[in-house]
Amino acid sequence: MKLDTRAMRYLAAEDWRVLTAAEMGSKNHEIVPTPLIEKIARLKGGASGVHKSISTLAKVGLIARVKEAKYDGYRLTYGGLDYLALHTHAARKHVYSVGSRVGVGKESDIMIVADDKGTQKILKIHRLGRISFRTVKTNRDYLKNRQSASWMYLSRLAAIKEYAFMQALREEGFPVPEPIAQSRHTIVMTLVDALPMRQVSSVPDPAALYAELIGLILRLAKHGLIHGDFNEFNILIREDKDEQDPSIITPTPIVIDFPQMVSMDHQNAEMYFDRDVECIKRFFERRFHFVSTTPGPFFKDAKKTVGRDGVRRLDAAVEASGFTKKMAKDLEAALKEQQAHSKDDPDESDDPDEESEEDDGDEEPQVIAVQVSDTEEALEKLAINDGT
Ligand code: ADP
Ligand code: MG
Repeated sequence: MKLDTRAMRYLAAEDWRVLTAAEMGSKNHEIVPTPLIEKIARLKGGASGVHKSISTLAKVGLIARVKEAKYDGYRLTYGGLDYLALHTHAARKHVYSVGSRVGVGKESDIMIVADDKGTQKILKIHRLGRISFRTVKTNRDYLKNRQSASWMYLSRLAAIKEYAFMQALREEGFPVPEPIAQSRHTIVMTLVDALPMRQVSSVPDPAALYAELIGLILRLAKHGLIHGDFNEFNILIREDKDEQDPSIITPTPIVIDFPQMVSMDHQNAEMYFDRDVECIKRFFERRFHFVSTTPGPFFKDAKKTVGRDGVRRLDAAVEASGFTKKMAKDLEAALKEQQAHSKDDPDESDDPDEESEEDDGDEEPQVIAVQVSDTEEALEKLAINDGT
């Protein structure tokens, strides 16, 4: 699923209303009956060309006709949900234009966007269920045979959770991007001018960076948290120049990617903690030939520090913010399933040009494919013309 914003410019107010109606209808219907779309759209703003809008939206793949259904209906596609989210970000002035895709993971697309002042930001689009859940359909709670509802629900959960954690971490002064907005399955955050540690071939002082990263793991633990995917892809290294002597550069880690974070009270906390530590150790040994002489850190020691010195427990704070245990459980199950599935599926690849997922229908070639440095010129303008 690629984000193609071209059609955004010519969608009329009525089209947006009908798209919103399809989204609202899909909360209770796997396939939204056409009369229901009509009804919701009319309620929201007068009777007019609902049918015309439906066909416009279907043509650009924002909703898809479901033919085998017992009744005439449509489902919202990932593209449709993307548009709705972008539309909200645009209406709130967080996003004005969309640039190139900088990253594609198993569970997300990362795009450069900009606001109307030209400030570049990151839009992270969660894509759980990118790998078809049809192949792993079981009696899972969250699926209930509702394919589209499940990917929408799970991707939204991932975004809500990631946003909540980013906010909490930021408040505590952790080096993470600043969360700006969240809508549906997407997050807008500040663009960090840094490369993943994976792309860093050497650092002046590996021991210092290692100590800083282990320090972050321990500081998270003190706040009741384990990152859960603390690896060289999710740690960005910003090169900070010394104010007195710019030739001295200090690599500063910025941590990203939070949907899988777990509490220090999680039943598998020790495994996740050890895995995060191990990831750093392994990477430092391979890349920088650095092996720490200090053993650990160990989970049992970190566990004793949770909440110490009156620090705020962020696991509890996030739960209190509305990300419930049930939501956490559903998301965790889905992430696990998705990871397990992608590991044994050789067709799945990180190559952005290789698409093997189930499609929403006619997919256009990627329009937005430029280098990050060229983004400014390449930013696609989003025309928002419904006045909402
Ligand atoms: P995923 O869940 O797919 O792994 P990530 O949040 O880890 O998504 O982002 C994937 C990649 O996108 C990162 O490795 C990094 O290169 C880039 N990226 C993500 N967020 C930012 C950001 N705020 N600033 C700069 N680059 C980012
Ligand atoms: Mg990542």
